[in-house]
Amino acid sequence: MVRTVYVNGEFVPEFEARISIFDRGFLFADSVYEVIAVLEGKLIDWDHHIKRLKRSLKSLDIFAPVNAKELLEAHRDIIKLNKLSDGLIYMQISRGSSERNFIIEDNYKASIVMFSQQVDLLGPHRLSRCLKILTLPEERWMHRDIKTTQLLAASLAKTKAHDLGYDDAWFVENGFITEGTSSNAFIVLKNNKIVTRKIGKVILPGVTRSSILEAAIFLGLEVEERPFSIKEAETAKEAFITSATNFIASVIEINEQIIGSGKVGRITKLLREQYIIDMKRTSV
Ligand code: PMP
Repeated sequence: MVRTVYVNGEFVPEFEARISIFDRGFLFADSVYEVIAVLEGKLIDWDHHIKRLKRSLKSLDIFAPVNAKELLEAHRDIIKLNKLSDGLIYMQISRGSSERNFIIEDNYKASIVMFSQQVDLLGPHRLSRCLKILTLPEERWMHRDIKTTQLLAASLAKTKAHDLGYDDAWFVENGFITEGTSSNAFIVLKNNKIVTRKIGKVILPGVTRSSILEAAIFLGLEVEERPFSIKEAETAKEAFITSATNFIASVIEINEQIIGSGKVGRITKLLREQYIIDMKRTSV
């Protein structure tokens, strides 16, 4: 099926979509993005995503001539035009184009693109996934809290993990896990305490991370936001990742050490059930 995609205010068939080769998103990764899950034709965690998008734009001083209401309408149009029930919408805003120049002038007009991908997000094969993780040295830049399209280090790390027979990689800096290549990393200790890295420059403030932590607190689970070491991860009772399109996925091996029982853990399962209830209730 040919998708209808969005480019700067217009909906066009995907093969007609055009962006300038001078676009700074293309030349300098000078662009930010969001990936929003869609369930039953509705957007998951919209407010959180828009809040983070605005923060990313502000951090890089990119001015985008659209507001949240217009973006919501465009997302809903993409869903309708592509008859999307379950999947995701990718949205990217770049600073725009002018002659290639390292110095950022102030005459750019941001460019915005959006497209959908159909994914059976709640399919049993996705929900029952058990991930095997390899830890690799952190090689990304120092502003991982901004959701830019500067994703090469993450893409290379994930590819390396795949080539070596793992499902994904977790980055390690100064002996402590930061996060996954495209997800936040969590462990559950023997006393059922959930541990994940605190928000700051070293990780992306995941939208799913924050909703999962809310679900955990609702369920009466204890949460500790602090760094954790490779050793602590390898000997955890459970481990999992969160991201907008994975929701929460179980990690059953880290560096070939089996985590807990080697199956989806009880806490991971509880959190996933609560998260899906919460997200369906608040989708727009
Ligand atoms: N960390 C990184 C590095 C990511 O790329 C992502 C997903 N884009 C996440 C965390 C998870 O964020 P979210 O829950 O908002 O998808």
